[in-house]
Amino acid sequence: MNKYEVLGVVGEGAYGVVLKCKNKESGEMVAIKKFKDSEENDDVKRTTLRELKVLRMLKQENIVELREAFRRRGKLYLVFEYVERNMLEVLEEMPNGVPIEKARHYVYQLCKAIHWCHTNDIIHRDIKPENLLIGKDDRLKLCDFGFARNMNGHGTANYTDYVATRWYRSPELLLGAPYGKAVDIWAIGCILGELSDGQPLFPGESEIDQLYMIQKVMGPLPDDQMHMFYNNPRFNGLKFPSVTHPQTLERRYQGILSGVLIDFMKVL
Ligand code: ADP
Ligand code: MG
Repeated sequence: MNKYEVLGVVGEGAYGVVLKCKNKESGEMVAIKKFKDSEENDDVKRTTLRELKVLRMLKQENIVELREAFRRRGKLYLVFEYVERNMLEVLEEMPNGVPIEKARHYVYQLCKAIHWCHTNDIIHRDIKPENLLIGKDDRLKLCDFGFARNMNGHGTANYTDYVATRWYRSPELLLGAPYGKAVDIWAIGCILGELSDGQPLFPGESEIDQLYMIQKVMGPLPDDQMHMFYNNPRFNGLKFPSVTHPQTLERRYQGILSGVLIDFMKVL
């Protein structure tokens, strides 16, 4: 660590902190993700090692670059290229959304990043504005592979330990159903909506509210998912009000997104 000068904290979470640092020799800025002690805790150890493994695998221009990784006194340090801000900050500066050209540019880069993850059988599982770094020339870099999962074989997974951000979660995740790469694709659609008018597309206040918000726009869940909902003990006794006239994406983004972009969002 002594080749770096710590300039400040840029992120903090259960795992540890992200520090903005300067390489004393080269003057170059880096972001260092410093994990808590992982020696005693097997869970922490497993997730940090997974993040490291995934980052080493995924080298692509729209994925944050891992420069080096080292361990000091039982703690893992990941050194990344420094990227000025994240998409949450961009959205805070532009509460009515970003110009459509910019939205397209971000979403295109996000698609490329996710495509590369999926090509390598990695599902990110936590696509959201805070995990999308925005650098010079509006270059987007996907970061935070703390939730990423390796997907081999048949294409669906069933994991119970999953707790990512609600607003960008797809119905299958909310229902605890088997899921696959499509969960990342769903989140891209949510991001496109939020970029275009500054409002989160489905800002649910709880899991059930999240499922209801989705249906208010998209219409009722498909039969198999509806069945899963009514058979899930977590939602025991709960019912959705019926959605006979969904808002639809067309109406929601009329005058904001072109027909082509609305069609694109629908398939996402
Ligand atoms: P977590 O969400 O698990 O706390 P992240 O890897 O998402 O960890 O990092 C937390 C925050 O730190 C990000 O939302 C971002 O604002 C900032 N950050 C992460 N990586 C970088 C980086 N390479 N350059 C600049 N800021 C970063
Ligand atoms: Mg994050």
